[in-house]
Amino acid sequence: MKHEKNEKKITLDENEMPREWYNIIPDLPEPLPVPLHPVTEEPVKPEDLEPIFPKALIKQEMSSERWIKIPEEVRDVYRIWRPTPLIRAERLEKALKTPARIYFKYEGASPPGSHKPNTAVAQAYYNAEEGVERLTTETGAGQWGSALCFACRLFDLRCMVYMVKVSYMQKPYRRVLMETWGGEVVPSPSERTEVGRKILSEDPNNPGSLGIAISEAIEDAVKHEDTKYSLGSVLNHVLMHQTVIGLEAKKQLEIVDEKPDVIVGCVGGGSNFSGLCYPFVREAEKEGIEIIAVEPKACPTLTGGEYRYDYGDTAGLTPLLKMFTLGHTFIPPPIHAGGLRYHGDAPTLCLLVKHGIIKATAVSQIPTFEAGVMFARSEGIVPAPETNHAIRVVIDKAIEAREKGEEKVILFNFSGHGLLDLQAYDDYLHKKLKDT
Ligand SMILES: *Cc1c(COP(=O)(O)O)cnc(C)c1O
Repeated sequence: MKHEKNEKKITLDENEMPREWYNIIPDLPEPLPVPLHPVTEEPVKPEDLEPIFPKALIKQEMSSERWIKIPEEVRDVYRIWRPTPLIRAERLEKALKTPARIYFKYEGASPPGSHKPNTAVAQAYYNAEEGVERLTTETGAGQWGSALCFACRLFDLRCMVYMVKVSYMQKPYRRVLMETWGGEVVPSPSERTEVGRKILSEDPNNPGSLGIAISEAIEDAVKHEDTKYSLGSVLNHVLMHQTVIGLEAKKQLEIVDEKPDVIVGCVGGGSNFSGLCYPFVREAEKEGIEIIAVEPKACPTLTGGEYRYDYGDTAGLTPLLKMFTLGHTFIPPPIHAGGLRYHGDAPTLCLLVKHGIIKATAVSQIPTFEAGVMFARSEGIVPAPETNHAIRVVIDKAIEAREKGEEKVILFNFSGHGLLDLQAYDDYLHKKLKDT
């Protein structure tokens, strides 16, 4: 049965959830520059990564197979919230008086409230399969940490989270969420690692950064036999796990007989954005789909970074990745979209931006909250500050469509809800937000 075109929520049955993840590596316009060992600067070998990742994930990281089977155990957990609905933002369309049709993939439906468990669950599963007992990770505002604590709980792993100190102080509720799922959370820099102790001895008031927290989490994993490390974005396997978003969205658009003209997402490390758009990239050039990555002006990696090899963390423990980077010691200003404050971006995404297949744009903080509040007042759902970046550009595109009288179909990734980010909304609503 064909659905009516004006359906509000387009849902799939559980058995229509993807059975394979999509790996973009074989479909890139040129081979991806290989990661280099941080000390020798030689291409990384799988064994080099074994102290920090389980073998199955290393294999996925280096795989050039286009489709990789999703284990049934992972699909079974995905069923808690997947397939997520594709929602038509018709009230936002009306508010904007635009002829554009706006659809969003609602990843805020997961228990931690963002897209992040799509990979956290897969990573916890593969680690548990290989006998790992404990995972370490870093977290900024706490979205990734909470996703991993949730996932670890379901596969009986312990979870140790190094949380950037400023966020630990300012955002206690995500710490509570992590602890509720059984995770252990410490502010970073911490006294638990050599990296942390060194930084604290030089500067006891260091506010921390994602780069520092990554260094601490990796050091902890390397030093403990039963422990591995888990990263929430940037790496090939992480982006691949997120493609369930775009694969579902594609089926959902087919149900209402629509094709996107514009695809928009926000970019921190690139995982939610790639998860939505990668399944569309092969046809994007043929069909003229405009794909737009949105980042904050305060941390303009794709629009202001240099395309070169750089480390993923502050201490230089991670492999060198070829990416757009602001430099691995860059500390971005403390904007509310904590999930977008990363100095680099996923190498596959950087390559596609370099080739012009994906466009990038940067927006400043206050206009993103304007957009988020407009969304909340029309569609009801309060978006995460990160998601507001995507919504800003969606609104601008919808206004452009109105001015040109074009019936564009705009698809965007609603990466997460903002119910644990209300301080940010308070600051915006009471004019305490600044744009630097
Ligand atoms: C973490 C996060 C992001 C940014 O991370 P990506 O890897 O670029 O997706 C965006 N939105 C939300 C809600 C997040 O939690």
